[in-house]
Amino acid sequence: MNRNPFRAGAFAALLLAPAVAQSEAASDITEARIREVLGFLASDELGGRDSPSPGQERAAHFLADGFAKAGLRPKGSAKPGETEPSFFHDYALPGLELVTKGARVALGRGDSRRELAAGEDWRLWDNGRVFTATDEPLVLAAPDADPRAARRAMAGRNLRVFAVAADSPVWLAAAGTRRVLSRRAQGGAPVILLREGVASGEGETLDVTLPAPEAIDVPLKNVVAVLPGSDLAGEFVVVCAHYDHIGIAPRAGAADGINNGADDDATGTTAVLVLAEHFARDQEHGAAKPLRRSLLFACWSAEEKGLRGSRAFADDPTVPLASVAAVVNLEMLGRPEREAPPFAWITGAEYSDFAAIAEPALASRGVVLEPFEMATQLFGASDNLPFAQKGVVAHSISAGTLHRDYHQPGDEPSRIAYAHMTSVVRGIAAVIEAFANRDAKPEWNDEGRRVIERRR
Ligand SMILES: [Zn+2]
Repeated sequence: MNRNPFRAGAFAALLLAPAVAQSEAASDITEARIREVLGFLASDELGGRDSPSPGQERAAHFLADGFAKAGLRPKGSAKPGETEPSFFHDYALPGLELVTKGARVALGRGDSRRELAAGEDWRLWDNGRVFTATDEPLVLAAPDADPRAARRAMAGRNLRVFAVAADSPVWLAAAGTRRVLSRRAQGGAPVILLREGVASGEGETLDVTLPAPEAIDVPLKNVVAVLPGSDLAGEFVVVCAHYDHIGIAPRAGAADGINNGADDDATGTTAVLVLAEHFARDQEHGAAKPLRRSLLFACWSAEEKGLRGSRAFADDPTVPLASVAAVVNLEMLGRPEREAPPFAWITGAEYSDFAAIAEPALASRGVVLEPFEMATQLFGASDNLPFAQKGVVAHSISAGTLHRDYHQPGDEPSRIAYAHMTSVVRGIAAVIEAFANRDAKPEWNDEGRRVIERRR
């Protein structure tokens, strides 16, 4: 493996350095707009955008509205009975509806046991099967426990019980009927939430009977829009990111447990919308020469459940995959170890000429393309993969690290390096221009073809 595939580009960075100040000053991609979009997507209000969840639904509509306001055309699925596409690419995944009708939870000591009221005293967070337990010792996670510590403390138990405040996000999210995607790993232990104060102290035991959850199809959506190109309008550059995250974690005590997913991947999603606005504005005002290829902007759901949204699109695309010149997937742009100079890295860069094309484009906006120790390994870890498996040149651009808040409630908007991210997004705009305008499409090399063959 070539450990330094970008060496040739160092010259380009030097040669193009004088253009940096000019292009940054002129850019309509602003830190203020990035803060605004990201601040909403990663807010507590959206509850960590789990697939499925009401917060994710709100995010989908926010993105569709954003594309519409920018003047893009919808390029998702047609609604039943209609021929025109909507902004939503609909698909469904197998899931479960958690049932509390017929369930029974009783708590107490010895013979003095009282029935708890579903919805009022306890709520069901997860369950994959019929479950019964008698005289089960009540073990609660420590208040304010780190979710990982709580998981460890509860590991190996058949039943996990969390005492949570009545105003906590996890309690509120468990109201009514909850739907979850069925994951093999979760086909086991049920997770029950007890309203704080319901359990009175040590030595209590539980009788629990839970009916089987109901198997259902869970409807989900990607958000897809197009900006038509000019002389190569029948070809597409896909600019995408996943807008889902991992939602709320059951967490004892007062801590909120919301996995905001600000870096992962509200940064990428924000970039997709802001870039769509940028290119649409350019086209509307005739500010720049129109791009030759069309741009397809896409926000995927269920990435965190195994790249399911992007796979659904690759299996049922709204444009022929043979017409897709490149997929530019954006992942985790906001948590660099150092902020200057702004840098980015590309997953599986050694598999195609994608990086060689991107490198001078990034450099023209002052962004340095660097190697990253896990870049090869992470090639298969995001939404570029389903496209690559079908032969489309598809990579992820990232501009940070796998930091300590990765998949934790600490992945908050306040911890994003906005100046760095803004520079990187401006650099990515130049990358998209390069892919949209150059005559030749990027190509896999022999190593890339071998890797894809293995991954099919
Ligand atoms: Zn991600």
